[in-house]
Amino acid sequence: MSLIEGARTNVNFLEGETLGPRTRTFELAPGLTVGGQRLVIFAGPCAVESEEQVQAAARGVKAAGAHVLRGGAFKPRTSPHTFQGLGPEGLVLLRDAGREAGLPTITEVLSPNDVDLVADYADILQIGTRSMHNIPLLHAAGECDRPVLLKRGFMATVEEWLAAAEHVMSRGNTRVVLCERGIRTFETGTRFTLDLNAVALAHQLSDLPVIVDPSHGTGHAELVLPAARAGIAVGGDGLLVEVHPNPAAALSDGYQSLSLEAFQALMHAVRRVAIAVDRTL
Ligand code: PEP
Ligand code: MN
Repeated sequence: MSLIEGARTNVNFLEGETLGPRTRTFELAPGLTVGGQRLVIFAGPCAVESEEQVQAAARGVKAAGAHVLRGGAFKPRTSPHTFQGLGPEGLVLLRDAGREAGLPTITEVLSPNDVDLVADYADILQIGTRSMHNIPLLHAAGECDRPVLLKRGFMATVEEWLAAAEHVMSRGNTRVVLCERGIRTFETGTRFTLDLNAVALAHQLSDLPVIVDPSHGTGHAELVLPAARAGIAVGGDGLLVEVHPNPAAALSDGYQSLSLEAFQALMHAVRRVAIAVDRTL
């Protein structure tokens, strides 16, 4: 039975007897559980740019209380004329920065052929919004022993997103974390529209943890903190936040990246919301 069918038979929406199936919990890395009372915060630069940049980001986000260091080595940029990531060199720099800071790492894998390589360097695989429909990639990640963070396609329904998660799980890997990162709407004032409904709905329809990406979901650094607070209030099991030691000099997504100081402020604000919804950071 699929996740969606299973959830529909378990949940009685009309009588409101339950808020949906319990979220499953599992380890993302030794000692780090997702889906439980404790929120998981993934933070770091959009792209790994240099040793100095990723080390500074790692130290800063660790000091502010983040749990996982993020950073792209293979970047799926919309334009071919922009920075495409450092590739394998970026994987090494991210791994080393994570080790020095004492943080597990997450990075995007773009191709099924790269799953084993990325899994050699990173603790968690990220499948990006543009790859959510790449069935061979979903299957390759499903054969890997690393947890997978699956971003929602920016034109995908919640049902399609959950079906993509099932593609990963169909190959044996059940450690899948869903990530709402904003969808395309008619609104142009923000880069994407962070779909908070989807966070609640995904929790209703499946037992997978759901985290929220307020960085891509808004596209503006000054909107990231309020969207992060909302993402936790609506039931998100954590956040994925872009943080750069010098956002103005970032090679990708600088306009939506938080400085280390702004990230500290976000953590402080989110901690207060977490308490209000019986979660901890
Ligand atoms: C990212 O996390 O930097 C990224 C490319 O995300 P998305 O796939 O959501 O655009
Ligand atoms: Mn980005």
